[in-house]
Amino acid sequence: MEAGQKTLTVTVMGYWGTYPGPGEATTGFLVEHGDTKILLDCGSGVLAQLMHSCEVKDLSAVVVTHHHHDHVADLGVLTYAVLLSRLMKTRTQKLPVYMPHPGPDMKQSLGAEPLIDLHVVDEHATVAIGDVLVRFARTQHPVYCLAVRMEADGKVFVFSADSALDPESTGAGRPDLPDLARGADLFVCEASMYAGQEVDARGAGHMTAPQAGLLGRAAGVRRLALTHYPHYGDHRDLKAQAEMTYGGPVELLSTRQVLTV
Ligand SMILES: [Zn+2]
Ligand SMILES: [Zn+2]
Repeated sequence: MEAGQKTLTVTVMGYWGTYPGPGEATTGFLVEHGDTKILLDCGSGVLAQLMHSCEVKDLSAVVVTHHHHDHVADLGVLTYAVLLSRLMKTRTQKLPVYMPHPGPDMKQSLGAEPLIDLHVVDEHATVAIGDVLVRFARTQHPVYCLAVRMEADGKVFVFSADSALDPESTGAGRPDLPDLARGADLFVCEASMYAGQEVDARGAGHMTAPQAGLLGRAAGVRRLALTHYPHYGDHRDLKAQAEMTYGGPVELLSTRQVLTV
């Protein structure tokens, strides 16, 4: 790292798919680069985990991949935390929230808080948050969903969000997700199901662990970690199955683990 460069880190707020395990959370990551603190997805239980790492008054922005409950369940209470920080005058700056087009309920609940600054993004958007450049790709999922690439000081973190993988292709799903993940220093990829569940995974708009490994290999990522775990089976099998197709070590996440990109 050259002088003056800041470290890009990703702290795991939650890695569960569908609903949280005891005392834990569904999807959420705190991405930090110097004073820039970005909450990526705000699933069930994420706000409680965030309190260990960051105060809401210090958040630079929130980025939301899609409007499934396991990715947005805590957004409403986050709005209340922003409201309180405004009343206590600990926060005076608006909190930008970048998300795909919200439904009327979400728009109304977030829009009611004057310190929330809602920005609708799509796969063509490029957003600068501090020195972090954020780009997106559309994924294969039952609702509109964006994978996210965050880049700072030449370091690249990519999150698959929720996505199926096209079994007809050679490890490439919709062309833009592998493109987005290309050469990532850290790729956190969903692995919602186990080997042999490819048909169910595709129907649900998710990947199996071997597919996550294939995608990681096709995109040439330097480090692959899995997320969005199912509430059955042995997660060590997810890791082993992804390693077979990735051709290298694959990591499982733990709550509040800090990953240096
Ligand atoms: Zn999900
Ligand atoms: Zn989803």
